[in-house]
Amino acid sequence: MTIEEVKNCIRDVYDFPVPGIVFKDLTTAFKNPSCMKFFEETMYDLYKDKGITKVIGIESRGFIMAPILGNKMGVGFVPIRKKGKLPAETIEVGYAKEYGIDIIQLHKDALVPDDVVLIHDDLLATGGTMQAAFELVKMFGVKKIYANFLVELDFLNGRQKFDSDVDVQSLIHY
Ligand code: AMP
Repeated sequence: MTIEEVKNCIRDVYDFPVPGIVFKDLTTAFKNPSCMKFFEETMYDLYKDKGITKVIGIESRGFIMAPILGNKMGVGFVPIRKKGKLPAETIEVGYAKEYGIDIIQLHKDALVPDDVVLIHDDLLATGGTMQAAFELVKMFGVKKIYANFLVELDFLNGRQKFDSDVDVQSLIHY
């Protein structure tokens, strides 16, 4: 499957969730098995040799591909969740989004310093969400952090928020 064919499966929804936003709806790609295979295999090829020990998904659209990839790589899945959803002791970081503000949390025992971590989310917009996720994961003193997105909105320059030593990869660019 080509990038253009995958792009044709991603639906633009205008003025969602607020006026002025063009929402990249990936549900239309997730229901297509060829797109799912493309996502799974492209991500696996990018990260299979990196020594990754945990794949983190960011709630909630990061929860679709992150466990699939973790399972394929034979490593565990860890959820970053919105405030108030994780049941045990947590640490948290607050951040601003393309629309609205949010707080994300990890369980205090979710990671160990020996971990090499891949953080996955469906889409990079302003970069606020992933920047907050980095901050959260860095608190554990892990060895290395990789960041992955299915889609990157290049015109929002979210990538500029990350330090140059952070490895950021997106499968599809707009
Ligand atoms: P940001 O923190 O601005 O990079 O926003 C990224 C998060 O918000 C991701 O979890 C996306 O699911 C969601 N998001 C932001 N903007 C869009 C958009 N235009 N289309 C689809 N999802 C978006």
